[in-house]
Amino acid sequence: MVSAGASGPPRRAPSMTKYLLVALVGLIFYFLLRSPPARPTRSDGVRTRAATSSGEEMVECEQCGVHLPRSESLMSRGAFYCSEEHRLLHQR
Ligand SMILES: [Zn+2]
Repeated sequence: MVSAGASGPPRRAPSMTKYLLVALVGLIFYFLLRSPPARPTRSDGVRTRAATSSGEEMVECEQCGVHLPRSESLMSRGAFYCSEEHRLLHQR
């Protein structure tokens, strides 16, 4: 007389694997949060203005006085400007 209920495969308590899974997911999240993608932040604002090696003439912005290569400057009425904004500011 074998009871039908005992014939099945011995089921292991699923709780253990469940905890392991949760722990694993937690660990993954932990590492994801701890180490954000450490990308080398490109300093876009800083322009590497290597001194004009081509011997280019340096000019000075009439508005702010910054020095910049002539090719990068804006010339207007015999004066140089570092940007359109400063040109407008100065001539206003
Ligand atoms: Zn300027």
